[in-house]
Amino acid sequence: MELSLIDWDGVLSSVVFLSGCPWRCPYCHNSDLWEVKRGIPEDKFFEYLKKRKNWIEGVVILGGEPLIGEDVIPFARKIKNWGLRVKIDTNGSKPEILKKLMAERLVDFVAMDVKTRLTGEKYDRAAGIKNVALEKVKKSMEILFAGGVSFELRTTMVPEIVDKEDLIYNLKFIPGKTSYVLQQFSPDNVPVPHFRSLSPYSEDYIKDICEELKDRGLAATVRGEQ
Ligand code: SF4
Repeated sequence: MELSLIDWDGVLSSVVFLSGCPWRCPYCHNSDLWEVKRGIPEDKFFEYLKKRKNWIEGVVILGGEPLIGEDVIPFARKIKNWGLRVKIDTNGSKPEILKKLMAERLVDFVAMDVKTRLTGEKYDRAAGIKNVALEKVKKSMEILFAGGVSFELRTTMVPEIVDKEDLIYNLKFIPGKTSYVLQQFSPDNVPVPHFRSLSPYSEDYIKDICEELKDRGLAATVRGEQ
């Protein structure tokens, strides 16, 4: 685990990174967290949190993929028992864990990646592995759409991975008014050399997509680099 502070939609939060991810996205910025590894012991994290819990409101749980295992459930429960809110960022590959967290009201906000067009071929390329269980990603989306937790979907606009047509295609799976964030891609420090050499899309292109998604009913916004 690593610790830092950021704002979460105006919520003053601590951030914790859980290691381990089953995917190998070639443009990943956290490839040092792909393998499960020993980081800061959990009790040290809670010692840290104890000192700050009176002036923070929440904890953001990132990865890697934080839902990779069941351990996140007691971890989130402990944070909630301290009266703090929990935000989780996920790639959507673990709907069963997401469901359990929501059933126990252990998560207050979910940010879920939609990497590209929701087809097997495009998702395999985006995730850098063969046979991504796309039905699990779709299941996670359905769980979020069914209600019970605030959420946003988000796409990092990586050239050669996702484009405007892909996002228009996905609209058939996404209800109107869904919060949708488009993020600019940064090629710095990504693991695959080819992706380090890519030029990000222009701001105008991303804004144009955002306007198109808004016109088609989504609550779309643009955020800075990822
Ligand atoms: S899902 Fe996220 S953490 Fe995992 S490889 Fe992709 S970008 Fe990296």
